[in-house]
Amino acid sequence: MIDLHTHSTASDGLLRPAEVVRQAASSGLSVIALTDHDTTSGLVDAAEALPAGLTLLPGAEISCGVRVGPDHWVSLHLLAYLFDATEPDFAAVRARLRSERVTRAQRMVEKLAADGHPVHWERVRAQADGVVGRPHVAEALVSAGLVDTVADAFTPAWIGAGGRYWVGKDEPDALEAIRLVRNAGGVSVLAHAYARKRGETINPGMITALARAGLGGLEVDHPDHTPDARAELRRLAADLDLIVTGASDFHGPSKPQRLGAETTSEQAYDALVAAGQGAHPVTGQVKTPPIGEPDILGKN
Ligand code: AMP
Ligand code: FE
Ligand code: FE
Ligand code: ZN
Repeated sequence: MIDLHTHSTASDGLLRPAEVVRQAASSGLSVIALTDHDTTSGLVDAAEALPAGLTLLPGAEISCGVRVGPDHWVSLHLLAYLFDATEPDFAAVRARLRSERVTRAQRMVEKLAADGHPVHWERVRAQADGVVGRPHVAEALVSAGLVDTVADAFTPAWIGAGGRYWVGKDEPDALEAIRLVRNAGGVSVLAHAYARKRGETINPGMITALARAGLGGLEVDHPDHTPDARAELRRLAADLDLIVTGASDFHGPSKPQRLGAETTSEQAYDALVAAGQGAHPVTGQVKTPPIGEPDILGKN
């Protein structure tokens, strides 16, 4: 089983990277990609904790978007795999996105406070171990008793896309994001393109433009995709010769989808690995004592 989209405490997941890979192994996965929002900071810990036989595909989920009108921007998430994390242009954009996330979360908190809601930036910041996101603001809304659940916070009355206290981020254009991933040796897959419950989505014409710009694949099997959305995307991927992936978008126990809830075929995985040249997948090894060291029985 191959699951190519997961989150840890490096962004808005609830489990530490080492725990994510341990759970991946116990869930029966053979390959897991860790794709935290706008960061690669969890990858080292994940790689070090890899159980024997489990493969880690290094990745990140990049915030970007497309302009669909003079005053109209649709946010997108681009899964990037196997890029060189030290390539400076792409690294700079990820760093800018992380600082933008802080500013934007602070502005959401200010808007809430201006309306008298008891939400404090220090509390939101403390919720986040790594990259801050709307789920951390949502948690603060739950803690303050303003909403019952995190999902209730993602509505027009609160911080759902375009909602009363929602603030957008300054994101790169998706065409630029695709170019950055490619120049860093990576391969990109458009995440949950038709997750319509999350807000406005793009149309087939726009996906065609992304494909022409070097998009590598489409995430077709995603928990937020209806059967119709999957069928449409699968057809589009076939027409555009894009790799089809499936993944859980696991965030830990905060969300219902388990690791391996949606999966990618081995053939699609091989195609991604062939397309990504900036880094390598890492496989956990059986731990053996270093040669020349006294063994546990102390024969030396
Ligand atoms: P951000 O990238 O900071 O705008 O936050 C987006 C993240 O919020 C997504 O990656 C999900 O983890 C989470 N999210 C988006 N929509 C919902 C929703 N309707 N319910 C719960 N979590 C959501
Ligand atoms: Fe997330
Ligand atoms: Fe996403
Ligand atoms: Zn995600």
